[in-house]
Order: sequence, then C-alpha cells, then structure tokens
Amino acid sequence: RAKEEGRGRWTLFDPQRNARSVSRYAVSVRMPVALDRGEFFIDYQPLCRLEDGSLSSVEALVRWRHPQLGVLGPDEFIGTAEETGLIMPLGRWVLEQACGQAADWVERFGDRAPHLNVNLAVRQLRNAGLVADIDRVLRSTGLDPKRLQLEITESAVMGPEDDSLRALNSLVDMGVSLAIDDFGTGWSNLAYLRDLPVASLKIAGSFVSDLKESRREQVLGWRIVGGLVSLAHTLGLTVTAEGVENADHAERLRSMGCDRAQGWYFGRPSRPEEIVKRIMESKSGLR
Ligand code: C2E
Ligand code: MG
Ligand code: MG
Ligand code: MG
Repeated sequence: RAKEEGRGRWTLFDPQRNARSVSRYAVSVRMPVALDRGEFFIDYQPLCRLEDGSLSSVEALVRWRHPQLGVLGPDEFIGTAEETGLIMPLGRWVLEQACGQAADWVERFGDRAPHLNVNLAVRQLRNAGLVADIDRVLRSTGLDPKRLQLEITESAVMGPEDDSLRALNSLVDMGVSLAIDDFGTGWSNLAYLRDLPVASLKIAGSFVSDLKESRREQVLGWRIVGGLVSLAHTLGLTVTAEGVENADHAERLRSMGCDRAQGWYFGRPSRPEEIVKRIMESKSGLR
C-alpha cells in the first residue's frame, strides 16, 4: 500500500509519466466535486436470452465525463473511489439513477421493460446502511424489487463476514436477486455458493472473448465454459455469459444451454435512448 502510494506520488513529478498515472491523479483530485457537478452518467448494456435474442435485462455501467480527460470508464476510477470512500455516495447515486430509469421503462412499456442489473462494490457490501439504502431507493423509485439484480464479485463474498451475509439475506428477503460477477476469475473457494442466496452466475468475459489463441486453448476454453454452465444449472442457478462478441460465441453458448448473454454482439453499453429503441423493436416483434 505505502509502495503503491509512493509510486503514485512519484509519477506526478515524472516527465515520463504515462496517461494512466496522470488520470489517477486527476481522478483523485477531481472526484469529490464530480458527483455534485453531475459529471457521472450511466450507460446500459443489454443482457439477452440466448434462446431467442430477446432483451432480458440491462446492466448499469457508470462513466465519468471528466472536464479535462474526457469520458473515463469505471476501471479508471472505481478503484480510487473505493480507496477514498467516494464509492459510497457514487454507488448510492448509481442505484438511484438506474432504479429510477428502470421504473420509468416499466411505466412506459410494462412487462416488455428490461430488468436491471447493478454492480455493488466490496465496500458497499461491508456498509451497515446498505439494506436500508436499497429499500429506500426501491420505495422512492417504485421499482419492483424482483426487477433488481445486484452483481457482486467472488472476492467480495469470499468468507463473507456474518454482517454481509445477513445483509445479502435481507436483500433477498426483500425480493432482490444476487448474481456473482466475473465468475471463475476469483480465488475460487466455491463454498460461498453453498452459503449465499445467489440466483445467478455471470461467466467472466475473458473466458469467452479471449478464445482466439491456439486451437488447444480454444477447445479447453469452451470446455471450461461448458463446465461452468453445468455447474450453475446443477445448483439451480441461471447463467449469463459475458464478453459475447460474435455469432459463433452466441451459437456455441446457446447450444450449451447457457441462459443469457451479454456482449458487443448483443449490444454495446449504450445511452438510455438506444435501450428504448430496443424495447420498441421487441414490441413490434422485430427482435
Ligand atoms: P462488469 O460488471 O464485468 O461489466 C462488464 C464489462 O465488460 C463492462 O466494462 C463492459 O463494457 C465490458 N464488455 C461488455 N461486453 C463486452 C464484449 O463483448 N467484449 C469486451 N471486451 N468487453 C465487454 P466497463 O463498462 O468498462 O466496466 C468495467 C467494470 O467496472 C464492470 O465490470 C464493473 O465491475 C465495474 N463497474 C461498472 N459500473 C459500476 C458501478 O456502478 N459500481 C461499481 N461498484 N462497479 C462498476
Ligand atoms: Mg457487472
Ligand atoms: Mg462481469
Ligand atoms: Mg469486470
């Protein structure tokens, strides 16, 4: 940690500093005011049913329109937000915005409106006020809890303390569902699958989209994906594959019985207006 901070400070004065460390600095000084100034926004990415390509849900993915650096993706600032604690107000803002958006779509399109997936940071999960926050957001936006799925990573649920386990159980009692994000990339002590009320696994995009090296790697890679799909189904969970970039990926996953897919092939993260177009298309039976 000290080494990391030291390195961060050093790069500030290093003429050779790379773009990444510049943004790290710019990120941490600007972040405290960015929320108040409305610089964050949310893109939504489709999660589609593989059997017919229909829109099942959308995942809320936060972005930051930085005044000097342009649009930054979450990988460039979520880490800093976690370190500085800003993830708490930011996470709350994302939940509020996204639940409000999802509720608005339900009002306009009824059952054709997609469900909503929202990412939870480790730190949010450890926070005592999480359940109350989510309950309040659901009430104020009027979103049916059954339409909300929270994504947590394997590392967040590794040996969860009693408190986070209690919180996750309360959320499930409220009707919210849980998905394990980036499944297969953590230190997989799979015992958590026995202890947690999880509904869904999301297979990490790297398993699918990185399958381009050698023939052997491809064969084994697809067998791993097949195994993960079977594991999910054996446990009675639904399974979503991430990083689905082309028709070949989609077809293989469909034939394996994978339930849902997310990736560029089914739609990039997009502005709400794009999602509305998708909903309308599904209405007229085009998709
Ligand atoms: P994630 O939850 O696994 O989200 C999926 C990421 O994969 C997104 O990156 C998405 O743009 C990218 N992606 C989707 N389809 C494809 C594809 O076909 N190919 C490839 N190569 N990539 C694809 P993004 O938007 O940069 O988000 C990165 C991560 O940041 C997310 O990973 C999530 O862990 C985190 N994140 C995003 N929004 C939030 C948030 O509101 N709160 C928290 N705590 N974390 C967030
Ligand atoms: Mg996610
Ligand atoms: Mg993921
Ligand atoms: Mg990820």
